[in-house]
Amino acid sequence: MEIKKRINELKEELIELRRNFHRHPELGFEEYWSQEQVLEYLNKLGLEVSKIAGSGVVALLRGGKPGKTVLLRSDMDALPVQEETDLPFASEEKGKMHACGHDGHMSMLLVAAKVLTEMKDEIGGAVKFVFQPNEEDAGAYKLIEEGVMENPKVDGAFGVHLWSQTPSGYVDIVDGPQMAASHYFYLTIKGRGGHAGFAHESVDPIFAATNIVQSVQAVQTREIDALNPAVIMFTEFHAGSNMTIVPEKVEMKGSIRFLYEGGEEVLERFERIISHTCEAHRVSYELNYKVGNNLLSNDPASAELVRAAAEETLGDKTKVTGLIHTMAGEDFCDYLQDTPGAFSFVGVNNPEAGSNFPHHHPKFNIDEDVLPLGVELHVRTALRFLRG
Ligand SMILES: [Zn+2]
Ligand SMILES: [Zn+2]
Repeated sequence: MEIKKRINELKEELIELRRNFHRHPELGFEEYWSQEQVLEYLNKLGLEVSKIAGSGVVALLRGGKPGKTVLLRSDMDALPVQEETDLPFASEEKGKMHACGHDGHMSMLLVAAKVLTEMKDEIGGAVKFVFQPNEEDAGAYKLIEEGVMENPKVDGAFGVHLWSQTPSGYVDIVDGPQMAASHYFYLTIKGRGGHAGFAHESVDPIFAATNIVQSVQAVQTREIDALNPAVIMFTEFHAGSNMTIVPEKVEMKGSIRFLYEGGEEVLERFERIISHTCEAHRVSYELNYKVGNNLLSNDPASAELVRAAAEETLGDKTKVTGLIHTMAGEDFCDYLQDTPGAFSFVGVNNPEAGSNFPHHHPKFNIDEDVLPLGVELHVRTALRFLRG
């Protein structure tokens, strides 16, 4: 089969699928309408299809010959954003929008499933197509808990994100750390309340807390290698109720992100500074974490395979770049905990197509001419992996 030609024949169907998903955005773990569309499409292809993680779908294509199993993943969720484009297929759901491109991801993976199914007899091994809910809030763990990596066991996992920081017609992939780990923290500083006029009779938690906000920034600038990216951000700070009262406590929230192997050291150093600052100022603290995403780090051999598939897809080596490292997170990392694989970006930035707004922006849009390239990248990645 001439893969490129076949995908181009399916371009209209691909765009229609995307527009339909775009009209009907659903938030994380509520993707039931999308799930219905995905189920219907994959059932027609005759794949072994099942629901997973509530609103997700997993489908298995068994090739004509035995071999390895490759997983291809699309996310499904939209965002709580009120769309401000005037596209004829704009969101029909108030306050919800596919503002990250996951509508494009679902349609690309569906059409890739169709093309690979048509090539079934030539395929040695199996392809697992995963449609995952709630990427925006780390939903992947749920599919993994429900066994998505088993039966058959996945030997390699690959994912694609349409990306507005990369020009249309380009693919970007790096070896190693690509998207940041994020840990959310909840920090309470407890002092002793009292009269603002008798500061010596109380223990001021605001004084201690503001010192902490300042002091922990030394982790990045003085304690770890300056070439290792890390950020400590306080994004909430609540204290007090009146101008004459020293409050009992300060409640803070924020996130710590890092983009290098071993970045968990930032968490330990963060707490060490907090505990000593608290001791210095006679307050106590309570610190809790919630893991957002782990570090997304591409296995170099898998990244090389995707690079080769991208070069074949684009027909131009110079359009396969390795520029994007980001402090944003991506739960695709969970699929790579015990399995090799890689995540890549397919550029959609094209000012002429109006697709140059950032992800999560109310005017975000994708360049639909790129969608066939995304399909082809999926197909060629899977074929190369199963051949290798
Ligand atoms: Zn997003
Ligand atoms: Zn996204």
